[in-house]
Amino acid sequence: MKLKFKTTQNSVSECINCSLCTKNCEFLDKFELDLSGFAKNSDLAYNCFLCDKCYEVCPKDIKGSEVSLNLRLQKPRKFKLLEFKKEPYLFENNSEKISTELFFFGCNFVGYFPKTSKKIIEIFEKEGVDFSIDCCGKPLFEAGLGAEKRLIYLNELFKKKKTKRLITACPNCYHFLKPRLDIKVSSLYEKLDEMGLLSTFSNEIDLFFPCPERANYEIYSHFKDKLPNAKNTFSDVNCCGAGGLAMSNEPEVAQNGVSKVLAKSNQPYTYCATCSGRFGASSRHISSLFLGVDEKTNKHYALNVLKFKYYKKGRI
Ligand code: SF4
Ligand code: SF4
Repeated sequence: MKLKFKTTQNSVSECINCSLCTKNCEFLDKFELDLSGFAKNSDLAYNCFLCDKCYEVCPKDIKGSEVSLNLRLQKPRKFKLLEFKKEPYLFENNSEKISTELFFFGCNFVGYFPKTSKKIIEIFEKEGVDFSIDCCGKPLFEAGLGAEKRLIYLNELFKKKKTKRLITACPNCYHFLKPRLDIKVSSLYEKLDEMGLLSTFSNEIDLFFPCPERANYEIYSHFKDKLPNAKNTFSDVNCCGAGGLAMSNEPEVAQNGVSKVLAKSNQPYTYCATCSGRFGASSRHISSLFLGVDEKTNKHYALNVLKFKYYKKGRI
């Protein structure tokens, strides 16, 4: 599988107006803008999915997500419902249990993959690893509202639980928290590999790469040897449509991402529960595959999230 790895990132002032970003982004194409033009249009700040498909092709290594986030900071919009849901997270489930390693589900995983969630909890329980269902703060950060309060809260929570290492289910949590927390952050796949629970699957699978992995495919590197025949089937798709709070402003672009994926595969695999949620019942999560759980994306998201708010509550 050929993937482009990038480590450098430049300011939009380096743009040479080659239009490659425009050709690779439906949002930019719709407004006939390249990233330097986008940087002058603060009204479009919340139309970008923060997916960085543009960064993948940019010869000057400019990130559309940075352009958009800078515009959002200049003119933040109000997201009252988002703040109400996420600060504090309405469906959080944390305990006071001491846990030097802690499994962090994030917000969406338990809603879309309840069977796999229970399996993970069961496996980690035997190892003395507690779980946390909570928001990492990335949605607030991407809204331009700042995530400082959330990060202080999480650091305090982990301090109380004497947590030294966070094990994450979600690629958004992983990439957002890793550079921002006081403790070590690992992916679920690193931990499963350490536990000898990452078997090799040589079947061909269609793998969708979530946006936060675009630059360095760090989480993918934790399991790629175990999926030798995974195919990068969806390399032309920008985003599942859930990124960057852009869905309401760009519903057609968001839906096109889903339609393209479903046109190419009747069983798209991902390692982001939010992407799976967008692709619907046919989509599967690779953690279910590794853990031997036969589970499609669950339709009863809201009910599952509510149930998990109380799952093993009061555990000691
Ligand atoms: S791909 Fe990069 S250099 Fe080319 S127009 Fe877009 S931002 Fe500018
Ligand atoms: S939607 Fe994605 S590809 Fe388009 S400008 Fe934003 S980050 Fe870049």
